[in-house]
Amino acid sequence: MMESVFPVLYILAAAGFILAIKWMNSPATARRGVLVGEIGMLLAVVGTLLRAEVVSYQWILIAFFIGSAIGVPIAYYMPMTAVPQRTAFSHACGALAAALIGTAEYYRAKPHGVVMTALIVETLLGFLTFTASMMAFGKLAERLPQRPITYRGQNFVNLGVFVIAVACGVALIISPEQTWLYPIFSVLALIFGVLLIVPIGGADMPTVIALLNSYAGLSACAMGFVLNNRLLITAGALDGSSGFILAVIMCKAMNRSFSNVLFGAFGTIQLTTGKAEARPVRSASAEEAAEILDAARKVVIVPGYGMAVAQAQHKLRELHDILSKRGIEVSFAIHPVAGRMPGHMNVLLAEADVPYDRLVEMDEINPEFPRTDVVLVVGANDVVNPAARLDKNSPIAGMPILNASEAQTVMVIKRSMNPGFAGIDNELYYLDKTLMLFGDAKAFLTGINKELTTA
Ligand code: NAP
Repeated sequence: MMESVFPVLYILAAAGFILAIKWMNSPATARRGVLVGEIGMLLAVVGTLLRAEVVSYQWILIAFFIGSAIGVPIAYYMPMTAVPQRTAFSHACGALAAALIGTAEYYRAKPHGVVMTALIVETLLGFLTFTASMMAFGKLAERLPQRPITYRGQNFVNLGVFVIAVACGVALIISPEQTWLYPIFSVLALIFGVLLIVPIGGADMPTVIALLNSYAGLSACAMGFVLNNRLLITAGALDGSSGFILAVIMCKAMNRSFSNVLFGAFGTIQLTTGKAEARPVRSASAEEAAEILDAARKVVIVPGYGMAVAQAQHKLRELHDILSKRGIEVSFAIHPVAGRMPGHMNVLLAEADVPYDRLVEMDEINPEFPRTDVVLVVGANDVVNPAARLDKNSPIAGMPILNASEAQTVMVIKRSMNPGFAGIDNELYYLDKTLMLFGDAKAFLTGINKELTTA
């Protein structure tokens, strides 16, 4: 009886995963997507526990309590800004689980042929994704040095370690009885994961995490072949492909290739900011900024990484409400890689209850800028840098940007003339139409809102 129930649960779970990905595509349906994904996972777990292969529930219960003791506090206490490192950590856990299951299966069953090949793919990807994700976690949480560490012949060393690990894997596929080789294979895969991340700068970690997500998914997919579990194959393939597609989208939005992200050591570029500070810019006070906003008919707000740092989204929502009540049209221009993770701005603005229909994607908002009276840039830099279009030698050349410079007036809230992620100066700040509003985004917006409400 039980054996006939679990395939039904599996099909429902797979449908839940697919719908979850579909609904998570839009902020309006994202919550529903998360819920249906959670229900899918619950059905998958229940379905698996009902299978005849489960001989004892004792160890499963112990693992359940240990996992919950780690997972529940993470879900409750990790702040929104720590989501990238939290994601890296959960990928590390998933990948380690896949690698350990593969290892147990190797010593238990010593499979041959196709199953052994799947097991080697599973454990290779699982082990390397585990250490790579832990390194990514360390860099994102700023517990490891952020800057890329490079040395001569690095790619050669990394490739060498990988090739030897693969060679050990192939030898194990040919002759699974050589158990002495398995620990060497595993350690090499673990080392390769560390080496892979060393030359990548902290700020590129979100793209790398998307890629590691893909590897963890493929590892789980291979595990499905090893354990003859169709749901694992489906879920792993979904995870593997969605992670890969996300990484491609992020690379495109930054106009960078995979090889540039993985081997380009982005973030080492040091441009002289001193020179930038020597050039004159026009600045304004909160009072002046409030007056300009009050006189506008159409305002576009461009949020960026600085908004996330300052946690200024609630103040932006207040500003949106104040201006909207006065009949001023306010929209938020969302660049696909604003901030440090995909959907960063959408998530923060949704947290502050900014209406979804006020968020406009880059391609839709760009034609609106010439008709816009005021663009208010809040802690964004690279995503509005005209150098992407005008300077072929710029590190961000070709990156699609929000054409903020086409508006009548541009106001930029940031603390200094320091550059953003790409480490380059921004010509937008020196235009006659631009006013720099120096200060922390939250504090400055508080000032503007106060001026507007007391005026
Ligand atoms: P950005 O270019 O990194 O610039 C952020 C700006 O915010 C800085 O210039 C900084 O200037 C300012 N800032 C920092 N803290 C602030 C605070 N408390 N108050 C006010 N301003 C503050 O950010 P972006 O325009 O959002 O561009 C994102 C960059 O990250 C792109 O280059 C993108 O390629 C890259 N990236 C994005 C992702 C993703 O998935 N979203 C992934 C990887 C890389 P001050 O220090 O002067 O205040």
